[in-house]
Amino acid sequence: MKGKITFTMIKPDATGKNLTGKILSKITEAGFTIRALKMTRLSKEQAEGFYAVHKDKPFFADLVKFITSGPVVAAILEKENAVESFRELIGATNPANAAEGTIRKLYASSVQENAIHGSDSDENAQIESNYFFSQLERF
Ligand code: ATP
Ligand code: MG
Repeated sequence: MKGKITFTMIKPDATGKNLTGKILSKITEAGFTIRALKMTRLSKEQAEGFYAVHKDKPFFADLVKFITSGPVVAAILEKENAVESFRELIGATNPANAAEGTIRKLYASSVQENAIHGSDSDENAQIESNYFFSQLERF
């Protein structure tokens, strides 16, 4: 069965361009309910943990540098078929390949500075939500 929860993070390129409000609007207009929300800045160690699956990739060091370069806005979102539905809303990793109307098409500037993260599986949605939020911070 497909889960109702996904995790997202508005990345430092987008928070730095003051796009947080616009992006949250797109998310709620698409039918997602915000169950947890916070602005925070990741330490190097936290970023390395969050992106541990990419640790052997050539872009890993740059990715960690980028994601720690400013604040992120993390959220837990609820909707039917949340993971797949949200990845459709954000669009392809590389904004050049992202469909019209997607968040990355609208607001991302490169494959690295791509505005927003979305979980890629129900399992990772749970892991990532737990990485950022305690039980008391969820509604
Ligand atoms: P995210 O996990 O952030 O939702 P994604 O699942 O679309 O993005 P991943 O393959 O998980 O893409 O890559 C994680 C992040 O690493 C990307 O969002 C991007 O910021 C960065 N990244 C991925 N591929 C590259 C690349 N070739 N060069 C530079 N950065 C990259
Ligand atoms: Mg990913």
